[in-house]
Amino acid sequence: MKNESESRKRELKSRYENKNSCFDEDVVNKVNEFIRGCESNEIKFLFIHLTDCDEHGHNYGYGTKQYLKQIQSLDKQIGIIMRTIKEKGWIEDSLVIMTTDHGGVNKIKDGTTIGVQGGNSEDKINVFLSVCGPGILAASKIEGDLSNLVCALIALSALGIEVLKYFDIKLPQISLA
Ligand SMILES: [Zn+2]
Repeated sequence: MKNESESRKRELKSRYENKNSCFDEDVVNKVNEFIRGCESNEIKFLFIHLTDCDEHGHNYGYGTKQYLKQIQSLDKQIGIIMRTIKEKGWIEDSLVIMTTDHGGVNKIKDGTTIGVQGGNSEDKINVFLSVCGPGILAASKIEGDLSNLVCALIALSALGIEVLKYFDIKLPQISLA
């Protein structure tokens, strides 16, 4: 059984090998700094990529103690960004879309649990989608199967940008949960 410090070493090694990766907290600090320094009309669209849950899913396995703890940490980081948006007075005019790129399953490699992606199993392809902002009723639920392409469609619609005909995807139906 590997101990916690070996897991940590594995995580840092993974990040070191992927030099474009950085910790969520650092990204959120930069995002906050950026938002605070902007006038309202300077931000039309902001894409934020937080990778710590993905790293934890791959390094420790999905649904593991470390993974669930990281989701709590992510929740806190999202809360920090939302608070900054509120402080700027933009919350009534901001649409926030959250999703992830993939799910995963666990496997044992060299005696250690890791998470793997790829393939078409339900656990690998089903991900969450969360949307809040103007026009989105609290406690409403998105109906039916979606592709994560819908995020682009929601963003384009919210920005009032015409969606090209060949972009063959429809806005989701929502209902009250
Ligand atoms: Zn991944």
